[in-house]
Amino acid sequence: MAGQEDGQLQKNRRKRVERLKKIIVITVFAAVLLPILVNICLLFLLHGANARLKSLESENANMQSQIDELRAQIDNLQESVTSYEEGQKDTREEPETVLESENSGQDVLTGDGVKRVYLTFDDGPSKNTEAILDILAEYEVKATFFVVGDTSGEAKALYKRIVEEGHSIGIHSYSHKYHEIYASEEAFFEDFYLLSDYIYDVTGVRPDICRLPGGSSNTVSSIDMAGIVNQLNARGITCYDWNISSGDADGHGLSAEQIALNVISGVDTFQTSIVLLHDGKDKDQTVDALRMILDELTDREDLEIKPITEETPIILHITH
Ligand SMILES: [Zn+2]
Repeated sequence: MAGQEDGQLQKNRRKRVERLKKIIVITVFAAVLLPILVNICLLFLLHGANARLKSLESENANMQSQIDELRAQIDNLQESVTSYEEGQKDTREEPETVLESENSGQDVLTGDGVKRVYLTFDDGPSKNTEAILDILAEYEVKATFFVVGDTSGEAKALYKRIVEEGHSIGIHSYSHKYHEIYASEEAFFEDFYLLSDYIYDVTGVRPDICRLPGGSSNTVSSIDMAGIVNQLNARGITCYDWNISSGDADGHGLSAEQIALNVISGVDTFQTSIVLLHDGKDKDQTVDALRMILDELTDREDLEIKPITEETPIILHITH
């Protein structure tokens, strides 16, 4: 019996040992296999992520090259715009009469029966300014120059000559680029004082008169012109438009005779005449016209030709 029991016990022990072995094998197997499986899964995931990363990278590279392409196109366009603007510069320098097809018809009675004529020259100095100054000196007439910014030695000498010979010097615009100066009030005053400071440095005179590029009623400005005029007035600057356009900048290439006729007939109409002329580099006809105008007007006894000063009646196209 005892032998049988022993046998049974040994059998049971073996069974237990067998079971333990199985458990150990399974445990070891699981301990080894699971991490391997997990690692394999992770490897798969990593591979997928790598593939996604690679495709994103290639997408990114594509987008980058598209961006570079667009940038190059923008640069090209910018260049075209710049060269177009350069090409347009000459015609844009004198657009006042293009914008102002009609004179305002404003007149100011002088009260003493003597006509007063104020000849104004915009957009200089240029190669024509010297000839204009020579003619004015010859006829002993003083005029007004609404100048632009030019840092050349010739221009500096002309600013000085304008002042030294008793003419009035006023602000027109440093850059004379409408789209820049009329983009904002800030841009306008930046341009204005750039020129004001420059003229002061060169001539010792701080201009207190101005002619707004395109006139006060220009249609290109995106800022309120009446507001600009008021702010200039508050800063001690008086703005002048004109009531006689000589037509020397209307793009039709008028002859000197026609320019002179426009001015003289205007002067016949008004008691106070503020005459718009230009001393830009391509305004050769204006030089010849000036001699004709002075030949005609300086002989008249009931007429004075004067530079604009703070006593000059204001002629302005807009109300402010
Ligand atoms: Zn101008």
